[in-house]
Amino acid sequence: MKILITDKVIEYLLDLLKEREYKYNYRPDITYEELSSIVKDYNILIIRGRTRVDKDLINNAPNLNAIIRFGVGLNNIDLEYAKRKGIKVFNTPTAFTEAVAELTLALILNSLRKLGYAHHTMVEGSWEKKKIYGYELMNKNIAIIGFGRIGRRLAELIKPFNVKISIYDVIKFPSEILEKYNAEQLDSLIDAVSNADIITIHVPLTNETRGMFNMDVFKKMKKKPFIINTSRGEIIVYEDLLKALEDGLIKGCALDVYPKEPFKDMRLSNKENVFLTPHIGAQTYEANIRASKEVIKILESLR
Ligand code: NAD
Repeated sequence: MKILITDKVIEYLLDLLKEREYKYNYRPDITYEELSSIVKDYNILIIRGRTRVDKDLINNAPNLNAIIRFGVGLNNIDLEYAKRKGIKVFNTPTAFTEAVAELTLALILNSLRKLGYAHHTMVEGSWEKKKIYGYELMNKNIAIIGFGRIGRRLAELIKPFNVKISIYDVIKFPSEILEKYNAEQLDSLIDAVSNADIITIHVPLTNETRGMFNMDVFKKMKKKPFIINTSRGEIIVYEDLLKALEDGLIKGCALDVYPKEPFKDMRLSNKENVFLTPHIGAQTYEANIRASKEVIKILESLR
């Protein structure tokens, strides 16, 4: 069983692999072209979000039995083609739920109180006490778009703030679940966002969710909400988001994910109502240790 690891993983996973005497090649910076030329020699790929596994790559991989996505999102893999070629695809769906839900809560509170901007002014040597006013989370209307693992964990985390939770999801949840989370399910995205003070996005990137947040949707947000996105960048039409900020259709945004990564847009620098993190939703030690253990379990099942 020859394993190729094509993205950066924590040392802990490499140690577990060594302990169990797995043969692996660790190439965290490998380019798509290099990968295409050597993938034929491997049976298992361990990847994160950076590695694109498309039709062409799969065609160059006659010995590939399995792809293990260290993480959740599978949007970088051509799942249909992999299935057609008999390649099993695994991910570690639960390992990162807590890390992303906690980051989302941090982004919400940061946005409401403009902490990023406040920090920036302090390190620049200015004292902006009179200028920096924010909002409390207590009693706000919050729309959770995508009520899966992360959306539901976030609902638990924000319970003490007595928020009113509206959810939008393609799955119709039974009333027991909605009562448990004190949430109301609405039938359309527009219904869910129209009265929200905060909108937080937790759907996967699919053909249906790509561009789900666009100018038409921003215009229907009556309360000029804060938008939080820890899901995938392409779910928001980025230029529409900038326009919505500029036109005051939204109060602010906090983003962990971007249409293209690595991401840099100087138009956003120093904006007091924008808070940005470089796709660190999954980057806690605990989550990466959990995911490493899950990867080992998957490998053992393939032996
Ligand atoms: P999940 O599958 O448990 O939940 C996703 C929910 O979205 C499901 O309830 C599903 O029914 C719903 N959904 C799917 N398509 C929809 C649509 N068109 N309209 C409305 N609802 C729809 O996934 P999760 O574990 O909660 O993760 C959510 C996303 O978070 C992942 O897909 C991934 O893109 C992202 N993520 C980001 C990071 C990060 O580092 N920032 C880390 C992990 C996951």
